Amino acid sequence: MISGPLSFIKDELKSLKSDGLYNLIRTLEGPQGAWVRINGEFMLNFCSNNYLGLAADARVREAAKEAIDQYGVGPGAVRTIAGTMTLHKELEAALARFKGVPAVISFQSGFTANLAVIGALVGKGDTIYSDSLNHASIIDGCRLSRAEIKVYDHCDMASLKARLEESVSGKRLIVTDGVFSMDGDLAPLPEIVELAERYGAITMVDDAHGEGVLGSSGRGIVDHFGLHGRVDVEVGTLSKALGVVGGYVAGSKELIDYLSQRGRPFLFSSAVTPADVAACIRAVEILEADDELVTKLWDNGRYFKAAMEKLGFDIGNSQTPITPVIIGEASKAAEFSQRLFERKVFAQSIGFPTVPKGRARIRVMVSAAHSKKDLDYGIEAFEHVGKEMGLI
Ligand SMILES: *Cc1c(COP(=O)(O)O)cnc(C)c1O
Repeated sequence: MISGPLSFIKDELKSLKSDGLYNLIRTLEGPQGAWVRINGEFMLNFCSNNYLGLAADARVREAAKEAIDQYGVGPGAVRTIAGTMTLHKELEAALARFKGVPAVISFQSGFTANLAVIGALVGKGDTIYSDSLNHASIIDGCRLSRAEIKVYDHCDMASLKARLEESVSGKRLIVTDGVFSMDGDLAPLPEIVELAERYGAITMVDDAHGEGVLGSSGRGIVDHFGLHGRVDVEVGTLSKALGVVGGYVAGSKELIDYLSQRGRPFLFSSAVTPADVAACIRAVEILEADDELVTKLWDNGRYFKAAMEKLGFDIGNSQTPITPVIIGEASKAAEFSQRLFERKVFAQSIGFPTVPKGRARIRVMVSAAHSKKDLDYGIEAFEHVGKEMGLI
C-alpha cells in the first residue's frame, strides 16, 4: 500500500480512471500485422504505426538475423566511444541517399533525435517558434534547450508571422511536425520556409509520420513539397513506416558533424543494436526499390475514409491515411474502443493531453498490410458501434 509523500499517486491514478484517461495497455502475443493476437484471439489491427507492414516483413527479419550472426547483439558502448559499427555508417549513408540530403546521423529513437538536435541548436537567449500541436518530444526538446518558446496557433501562418515580428536577440528556430499524428494534416511547409528565410530563422521539420507515406516512394514531406535544400533540419523515425526502431537527423554535413559532438543522446546513451540497424537498412532498401507499399497504403486510406464519411462519422481534416474518428468526451471514446474490441477490432482511443479536451477520438491507422476484406470488416464494426452509441 502506497503512503506518505507518494500517496498522491493513488489520487492521480484514481482521477485518470474516472476521467476515462487511464491507458488500457493491451499486450500483443505475436508479431505486428493486419491482424494481431491479443488474449488468445486474432483482432483486426487498426492502431499501429506500422504503415507499410514492414515490422514483421520476411526480408527485414532476415537482415536482422544475419546481423546478429555477424555482429552479435549489443553495441557495447555509446556511438562516440566504441559503439559505432559499419552498420551504423551504412544506415546513415542509406538514409542520406533516400532523403536526398548531404548527411544523416542516427539516434536511438525519434524522441531522442528531437532532444539531441534542438538542444544543440538553441539555448538560453535564443527563441523557438513551435506549432501548438507539436509532438511531445519536440516540446520536451524545446524545454530542455532553455531557449524562450513562442507557441504559434496550429498551422496558422499569420500567428507565426506575428510571433516572428516580436523583437528578439539571439538565434531563431521554427519547429513543426510535418504530418500531425493525431489529425493527419500537413504543416504548410512552403510558407514556413518563406517566413524563416525572411526572418533569418532556422527551419526544422519532424517527419515521423511523413516518412514512408509522403513524397516519391515515401521520401517524406520535404520531397512532397519539393523543398530540397531549403529545410535546415529534418528529423525522422525508423519506428513507424520503416517498421523497426531508431531515429535520425538529416541535413548538411556540418550540421551532422556538429551533432556527433553535441547531440547529447548520441554521446550519453548506447547505440542501437546491430540487428535493429540492419533491419532499418533493409527497410530503406525496400522503399527505394519501388513504391508498391506506399501506393497500397494510400489506396487503403482513401477507401476507408470514403466509407467512414459515407456512414456519417466526423473524420476531421486528414490529408494522409491517418483517420481520426472524433468521438468527443474521453470516456465515450474509451467505451467506443471497448465495444470495437468486443467485435475483434483493435483501435485504441486517444484523449487529453495527446489531443485537446472534448476532442477524444479513435485514431485509425490503416496500413499497406490490410486487404479490402480486412477494411470492410473494420468498417462494419464501426457502423455497428456508431449506431449502438447514437453517433451516426
Ligand atoms: C512518434 C513520434 C516521434 C517519436 O519517434 P520514436 O522513434 O517512436 O521515438 C517523434 N515525433 C513525432 C512527430 C512522432 O509522431
